[in-house]
Amino acid sequence: MAAIYGSIELYRVSDSTGNNSFSNQIGMDLIKKTLADATDFTWKALQLNTPAERKTIPTISLFIENSDGVPFADNDEIHFNAGYLERYYSDDDEARREFVGVIYHEMVHVWQWNGGGTTPGGLVKGV
Ligand SMILES: [Zn+2]
Repeated sequence: MAAIYGSIELYRVSDSTGNNSFSNQIGMDLIKKTLADATDFTWKALQLNTPAERKTIPTISLFIENSDGVPFADNDEIHFNAGYLERYYSDDDEARREFVGVIYHEMVHVWQWNGGGTTPGGLVKGV
């Protein structure tokens, strides 16, 4: 189940690590599938069941960068630093599992309403 808004492609992946070793290790198919699955997961987890309940996000950009810093989300951008995966996960399967876990975590940040926005899920229903 890919998450698509109309005909717009929701995800953009940019790999600036240069030698493409990251994309080769993780695989572009898994990268795109993970972005879509993580969005579906997040919509369910935060009970963002209809477009009206969600932030308007035309595109989610995943930036794969050469850095040792921790991954982070900034609005509609996820920054993933390939350096630490290469350092700690020489096994491809382990690297993929770590990548998937990180993307799910960061995707929640992308879709979370902050502060004065709608409070998602259980809080509203529990009142
Ligand atoms: Zn976090």
